[in-house]
Amino acid sequence: MTVRKVVLAEPRGFCAGVEMAIKALGWMLRIHGAPVYCYHEIVHNKDVVEWFRRAGVVFVDDPDDVPHGAPLMLSAHGSAPNVVERARAGDRIVVDAVCPLVTKVHHEARVRAGKGLQIIYVGHRGHDEAIGTLAEAPASMHLVETLDDLERLDIDVGEDVGLLAQTTLAHGEWAGVLERARELHPDLWMPDRSDLCFATTNRQAAVKRLAPLVDLLLVIGSENSSNTQALVRTAVGAGARAALRIDGPDDIADDVLVSVEVVGLTAGASAPEGVVRAVVERLAPREVESLSVTSEDEYFPLPRELRDRIRSLVTLVAFSMGVPVTAGPGDRTDRDMPAGAVLDALPSGDSEPGGSEQPAGRSPAPNTVAAS
Ligand code: SF4
Repeated sequence: MTVRKVVLAEPRGFCAGVEMAIKALGWMLRIHGAPVYCYHEIVHNKDVVEWFRRAGVVFVDDPDDVPHGAPLMLSAHGSAPNVVERARAGDRIVVDAVCPLVTKVHHEARVRAGKGLQIIYVGHRGHDEAIGTLAEAPASMHLVETLDDLERLDIDVGEDVGLLAQTTLAHGEWAGVLERARELHPDLWMPDRSDLCFATTNRQAAVKRLAPLVDLLLVIGSENSSNTQALVRTAVGAGARAALRIDGPDDIADDVLVSVEVVGLTAGASAPEGVVRAVVERLAPREVESLSVTSEDEYFPLPRELRDRIRSLVTLVAFSMGVPVTAGPGDRTDRDMPAGAVLDALPSGDSEPGGSEQPAGRSPAPNTVAAS
């Protein structure tokens, strides 16, 4: 079966928060060398995690497993206050790569709970972001995944109630809970803008436009990526004849493409563009075009503690060499360096058994010499 056309959704793939987190972990490796520790997956993408693991990052689920004095990064999803506290104990060199948009929700949770509100939190049970946010005010927050959860909530009539949300939800699911919550609590407080972030809503808007136009919509992203799963549900809700989440080109069986002429393709906010290219190659269409709903130019600078550290190192090196201090990443010059380039430059851990194999979607690392 020949795919006639692939239509690429725009925007797709890495968001500003993921770009920042990947670049930050890349800098940690360059400054400290392996091993660098990371609390939870830096982003929810198994390729990205595997590439960092091969480069010497050790992923842990408990900060107490990290040796004292070691470099430790906290993931983009945000961490519970007691995790941050335990991470910072023991002289570890801690960099918190939480996305600023997740930080905003943590802040709202603390402030509103402090004002006495009971907070309905729309999110996914067990997701790292939800765990971290709920831990900001556990006595005041109520996790709601479905309308049934909402109906079962035990909030007294007359209590002040607010609503916050995980940043990566499908818009339709969040909107349904909001509507019912407003019926139950007419004075419901919520932020001026929904907590669903720009990256989530932009990628879903593109999928809504694309879904009715194609025979099959492929969404690249990992199973534990909330925004990826939301894109699949959004595609189905928007009338896609078929929608499928894939990790990469190897997940596309030939029978999936039977009777498929036009494929729509998008990628979750933590899926590398290299994997998109590998999927297009696998589909081998006669033509490729794009469907764009908006462009994104958001940029999140590296975490302050990392910028300060890099600036100190640049100053030290310049001083020791007797040359003037030039601009460094602390001065936003990393803005033009895409996270994909950081991934491509990671050492590939060739000394490990099987480590020389390049996963689909990642260019050969610059230090890899191709056999002639
Ligand atoms: S998906 Fe949104 S909230 Fe999550 S890291 Fe990206 S920009 Fe931040």
